[in-house]
Amino acid sequence: MKKITVAIDGYSSSGKSTMARELAKRVGYVYVDSGAMYRAVTLYALEHGMIQDGKIDVAKLVSSLGDIRIKFAPAGADGRQHTLLNGRDVEKEIRDMAVSSMVSPIAEIGEVREHLVKLQQDMGKGKGIVMDGRDIGSTVFPDAEMKVFVEASPEERARRRQLEMKGNGEDVSYEDILANIRERDHIDTTRKISPLRRAADAHVLDNDRMSHEEQMDWLLNLFNVISHE
Ligand code: C5P
Repeated sequence: MKKITVAIDGYSSSGKSTMARELAKRVGYVYVDSGAMYRAVTLYALEHGMIQDGKIDVAKLVSSLGDIRIKFAPAGADGRQHTLLNGRDVEKEIRDMAVSSMVSPIAEIGEVREHLVKLQQDMGKGKGIVMDGRDIGSTVFPDAEMKVFVEASPEERARRRQLEMKGNGEDVSYEDILANIRERDHIDTTRKISPLRRAADAHVLDNDRMSHEEQMDWLLNLFNVISHE
């Protein structure tokens, strides 16, 4: 059984992170949530006054990229990895609406992408990694042995996101979440650099009507076939 690279891309709140995290755990691979890295950069920009009234001070952010250290703490009691921004656990803050509504414009900045793509490629050097995001199969690991593209309708994704936010104690309306998802889909698919696009050799997983167990069976099957090839 060979060690492979697994790239899982898809729309926001398609459930790809949950699946990627669980796949990594089941097969003993490292899991990296690349969206969390874009979110951490966004939180840094918000906290350092680089975003005022929705306007980003791109020059200041680009010159600060070297000061932004992003790491993942191993899964703790809650079974989840936590994102560390310059040593601080920001797992909860990076999921709130303030960050969600600015992360896609931040992720459009070429220098931000270059910086994070390089960090992601370094993390995947030894293979044995599952990474999820938007451009993992197309740009970060174009040679990944296993590529998956996850699809689900915006309505279903908004419903799931609202449940997740409720679990975090955030009460945001379904309409606001749906609007944010549509807005991010639009920015992510139309941006100039590395737009969200299915890699030609990606396997599509349309999970609108699939249970979690069905999705995991599908993923594990594919993983077993590819890693034994
Ligand atoms: O996956 P998640 O929804 O947390 O990602 C947040 C945002 O980060 C996305 O809407 C997208 O704009 C950006 N992103 C990206 N490339 C990635 C991962 C995330 O542009 N590989």
